[in-house]
Amino acid sequence: MGSSDSFVSALAHALLPLLAGPANTTITFPSTTMRRRACDDRAVPESPDLEILADAFHAGLVGRPLASAETPQSLVLRGTPAELDGLRGQVLTRVVRRGKFLAFTFDRDLIIVNAMLTGRLGFARPGAKAWSQTAAVFRFGARLRNLPLDAAPWTAGARWLPADDEPVELRYRDATRMGKIYLMPEGVSRPVPGWDEQGPDAADGALDLEAWRRRIAKHQGELKNLLKNQAFVAGIGNGYSDEILWAAGLAPFRKRSALAPDEVDRLYTATRDVLAWAVSELRERVPPKFEVEVRDYLKVHRKGGSPCPRCGTRLSELSPGGFVTTFCRTCQR
Ligand SMILES: [Zn+2]
Repeated sequence: MGSSDSFVSALAHALLPLLAGPANTTITFPSTTMRRRACDDRAVPESPDLEILADAFHAGLVGRPLASAETPQSLVLRGTPAELDGLRGQVLTRVVRRGKFLAFTFDRDLIIVNAMLTGRLGFARPGAKAWSQTAAVFRFGARLRNLPLDAAPWTAGARWLPADDEPVELRYRDATRMGKIYLMPEGVSRPVPGWDEQGPDAADGALDLEAWRRRIAKHQGELKNLLKNQAFVAGIGNGYSDEILWAAGLAPFRKRSALAPDEVDRLYTATRDVLAWAVSELRERVPPKFEVEVRDYLKVHRKGGSPCPRCGTRLSELSPGGFVTTFCRTCQR
């Protein structure tokens, strides 16, 4: 479930699919899902992209036992073959996103995925044509336990949900193999770079305005770097930091120490609004192709030279350190 959804709201909505009947028993996988697709390497997964994946995998896979797993590109795996084998038969109980990570909790063990730049995850029917650059495949059996009660409401009855009585694969592909899949068996301590260093999730309901003001006061640097700093708040990367700063009307290279109190608050509101807006857009645009990043709806990022949607000025674009930054010199101050 989404980290911003309240448990109570999720529980209330969880009954809807049950009342609506077994809407996901007649699902067929659209053939287009299986086709090889060009991967847009510029769209690095950030909080909204991973949020809908967590929701989809939670709704589609929880309650299923892991039947088998293989890693054609073992470079992505952090763990031993014996540990991978030890997951077999364990039922998946939960999928959550934290920052830019996805965590899959099984009966006993845990898997943490960091997709990094080019890692992509999606459902596939067992036996369907292999994806290019497949790095790992997790085969799940038919659902042994009920649909999770805390499934995100938007997934209820979705056509892309794999049928309960059929097996399904969770595939991971990665063109650069920079992403990592960390096996975390019970009793085994394995470092997951970036995991422990994360601040509160940028979309977490517990990150209220007071907490934001307290945290941001400790940082002095440029606003774009601040938003991308996972130790400040987790989940925001190069793309959504541009969208947030545009929404807030704040210039990306401005220093945090130069912000007035009302600008600090504006940045908070813009962060929450943009992330929530992006998630709602992605829910409409991504399924059933979860393995493809969608970014065509963004307002400013990578749209340098186009008119600013707010004031009409041509958007500026710079690439400090190789990371594209797009902004409006007129209405972002
Ligand atoms: Zn403008």
